[in-house]
Amino acid sequence: MANDIDVLIAGGGPVGLTASILLSRHGVRSLLVERHPGTAIQPKSRGINPRTMEVYRQCGLEDAIRAAGLPVERTGLIVWAESLAGKEIERRIPGRASPTNMAMSPVRNCLCAQDDLEPVLRRFAEEAKPGELRFSTELTALTYDDSGVRAVLHDRTSNTESVVRARYLIAAEGAQSRVRRQLGVKMLGEERVYDSVNILFHADLRQWVEHRPAALYFIEQPELRGTFLTINGTDRWGFLIHSISQYGFKPEDFTPELCARLVRQAAGVPDLQVSVLGVSPWEASAIVADRYRDGPVFLAGDAAHEMPPTGGFGLNTGAQDVHNLAWKLAAVLRGGADPALLDSYHAERQPLAETITRAALANALSMGRTTRATSAVLPRREFLNEQGLIFGITYTSNAVIPDGTPPVTVADPTTEYAANARPGSRAPHVWLQRGEQRLSTIDLFRTQFTLLAGRDGAAWIDAARKIAWPSWPPLLAYRIGADLMDPDDNWHTIYGVQPDGAVLIRPDGYVAWRSASAARDPHRTLQDAANRLLGRARETVS
Ligand SMILES: Cc1cc2nc3c(=O)[nH]c(=O)nc-3n(C[C@H](O)[C@H](O)[C@H](O)COP(=O)(O)OP(=O)(O)OC[C@H]3O[C@@H](n4cnc5c(N)ncnc54)[C@H](O)[C@@H]3O)c2cc1C
Repeated sequence: MANDIDVLIAGGGPVGLTASILLSRHGVRSLLVERHPGTAIQPKSRGINPRTMEVYRQCGLEDAIRAAGLPVERTGLIVWAESLAGKEIERRIPGRASPTNMAMSPVRNCLCAQDDLEPVLRRFAEEAKPGELRFSTELTALTYDDSGVRAVLHDRTSNTESVVRARYLIAAEGAQSRVRRQLGVKMLGEERVYDSVNILFHADLRQWVEHRPAALYFIEQPELRGTFLTINGTDRWGFLIHSISQYGFKPEDFTPELCARLVRQAAGVPDLQVSVLGVSPWEASAIVADRYRDGPVFLAGDAAHEMPPTGGFGLNTGAQDVHNLAWKLAAVLRGGADPALLDSYHAERQPLAETITRAALANALSMGRTTRATSAVLPRREFLNEQGLIFGITYTSNAVIPDGTPPVTVADPTTEYAANARPGSRAPHVWLQRGEQRLSTIDLFRTQFTLLAGRDGAAWIDAARKIAWPSWPPLLAYRIGADLMDPDDNWHTIYGVQPDGAVLIRPDGYVAWRSASAARDPHRTLQDAANRLLGRARETVS
């Protein structure tokens, strides 16, 4: 039987919604189902890192997300204190915010609470075509084979069931993923490493925060350790109580009355007017799926990896999962690539999730999240200084062609990033000029592959126009220093090519192939690279 749709997305959290937007950009027919009637009601995630903002910039969402979030100057610090009104222990500017680190991207991070972000994502996903969204709809049963999936959907409004057939399924169902359990996927790592409770509340805290605007205010008291999480910076806040069992609390203890009392205690303001809006106990795990794919089913986001929020990587890693996956699904569905391309999803995303999850756990342990602390525990220096993990992750897979150069090494791969265009790396940001317009290399990457050649690389541009690239939009090709100007004269150095070299960049902004200098037969060289990348290696140049 024919498929009803190309891709079914189970879960309308930030990762599922991002997948829907990305697939629509590629012209893929998707159906997203979300069991709840609307988007998130808890602000859980807040920090969108600059790499994820690059993804949203590529989709035209950057301004809308910034408008829903807080201006950067309202969140620039991290503060440790005995209470908001009491003695300040320390304040830091996160390492990620140093001028050198900020110069690595055309975009800045954004603090936008998940319950403010998701409506923006939902609006864009609903406006984009051909993707379709159905809320109050749950995926309740699944069968699949190599030709696709058959899913039973329960419409919770009408209490009716329907069956949908799709070529592929993205399970973005969050940490409790039903699909993942059904696939029998093992989670590697440490489960339930510490417990916490999230309190969402209304209280005017301006007089204790306005002079030191921070994203996080860590409160360190002998009997209470918690963090004020900035949401609007004025009267809407989260308060995260850490390691609750270490301090003798149980999840069921957190009545609104107790929550309000603890918020007042942490604020150091006994008569503070507090209105508790929500309480959610949760346990942090540090686990990653041992496989991200089973036939036509792909795991993404928290369904594939669960990590402590220390470092703010959960949503970011999930959004980047589907950025990695969407163009590959589109290419295979269009017939423009061999299905083997899809194997690169696990090969590229799973190992990095293990690295990031380990780092998030190390942050949490360094802050004493699993123990009872009697005095302030300041985090390791890597905390919120993970520039290497944000930009320096590299891929090794069949969707990357090595160029024989050794990996670029840095002293600390967690905190340091050395901009480079070795195949498998994120194509670095370099400012360019098109007439009066200043744009980033990142702004050039669209839904097709992009060839960037050096200023003397006319032969590569010519080859790019001629190569056979079946079922793909034409290759985008630019000479840097000729078609686009390089005002700082650093593109060739950062991209590691001579003026007659070239770099091929994937739709997700990662370098697929590089030739440091001219080739004898650029047409054949580029065609061979394209064939290899798209799994058509046996085809030859005519
Ligand atoms: C306190 C806290 C702070 C955090 N801070 C950050 C941060 O600063 N930065 C960051 O990147 N991350 C952060 N995170 C993590 C972030 O919240 C998660 O990583 C993110 O929500 C994962 O998104 P997701 O779409 O994969 O899953 P979810 O947000 O869990 O969404 C999954 C969705 O799928 C739906 N669903 C489930 N099963 C089905 C089904 N069978 N059919 C239909 N729908 C289904 C659910 O209803 C849900 O809406 C934080 C988390 C916590 C707890």
